[in-house]
Amino acid sequence: MEKYDLAIIGAGGVGLASAMYAARLNLKVVVFGHSSGTELPLGGTITTTLVVENYPGFKKTSGLFLSKQLLDHARSYDLVTIKEEKVEDIKKNKSCFMVKTGKGEYQAKSVLFATGTKWKKLDVPGSKEYENKGVGYCALCDAPLYKDKVVAIIGGSDTATSYALILAEHAKKVYIIYRGESIRAEPSNINKIKLNKKIEIINNTNIKEIKGDRFVKSVLLDKPYKNSNELSLDGIFAAIGHIYLSELAKNLGVETNASGEIIIDHKTSKTSVEGVFAAGDVTDKPFKQLITGVGDGVTAAYSAYEYVSDKKVEC
Ligand SMILES: Cc1cc2nc3c(=O)[nH]c(=O)nc-3n(C[C@H](O)[C@H](O)[C@H](O)COP(=O)(O)OP(=O)(O)OC[C@H]3O[C@@H](n4cnc5c(N)ncnc54)[C@H](O)[C@@H]3O)c2cc1C
Repeated sequence: MEKYDLAIIGAGGVGLASAMYAARLNLKVVVFGHSSGTELPLGGTITTTLVVENYPGFKKTSGLFLSKQLLDHARSYDLVTIKEEKVEDIKKNKSCFMVKTGKGEYQAKSVLFATGTKWKKLDVPGSKEYENKGVGYCALCDAPLYKDKVVAIIGGSDTATSYALILAEHAKKVYIIYRGESIRAEPSNINKIKLNKKIEIINNTNIKEIKGDRFVKSVLLDKPYKNSNELSLDGIFAAIGHIYLSELAKNLGVETNASGEIIIDHKTSKTSVEGVFAAGDVTDKPFKQLITGVGDGVTAAYSAYEYVSDKKVEC
């Protein structure tokens, strides 16, 4: 059976950066990655971002390019093994962790959860029926399909605004339909939205139903907009939050909070279970950005190094 000092669950930006750092600390590392909704098994959520302007050292780059750099950097260390396998179960046996995937079983002295999140799905009549027929969750992936079309984003977060900016590159009209008074996003994104003539915000409004024939044709709103409750659309993208992928950690006895985020010690990235660490979007870190996650991931790699060295863990 393959044995490792550290098993990293999740090959998003955080998992990859942690692997690089752990290898520099001479830890033998395995990283498991699979796609939870994003098109790619490796790279994670940042691959769904068209423009990244806030990752230090990269004035302006694409999420895809950035994740490729992180992947190549991790791969440049011989001590790093990357497996495109979905981890299905992890058990602690004495001081060793047994990591089970659909393709095999592996032993590790320590575990780092960098499993991230997946999109919360819309739940109105028509949302399931028209999924991939006009209802989508990854604007970067699908925006080119809506060239010169009319689309809407449901939500008011920074993700919603970056989706609107991506879609406005292709579509002729972009609505942001938001149930609250004003959208909550990075000031720079709000300014870009305001300057973009194609983008219009419909606030204090919810969608009640998605209608169409073979594809989406319109949505029903819970309030009239320009004297009608029906808005003609060709596409709808939801940015209504994320589900934290912490099931595996919970099953291992790791403490999580009410929303499902893994609770970590913010100085060491340790979790409530000895030998288990966590970093990135799946943790209870409030400001979820790649750079903040990478910071926690590198800290977790160092804490794992200390744990494996101090405890003289035998597997
Ligand atoms: C539209 C959008 C725009 C954004 N823009 C920016 C930005 O400009 N700058 C910025 O810093 N941040 C941005 N962010 C936030 C940033 O993308 C995230 O903070 C960061 O990518 C999180 O990385 P992560 O590695 O923690 O999680 P993820 O990237 O979600 O990676 C987790 C990985 O783990 C995998 N995984 C989960 N469970 C398992 C399992 N059981 N087995 C194997 N693999 C598993 C998942 O498939 C995924 O690939 C943006 C986010 C969105 C949605």
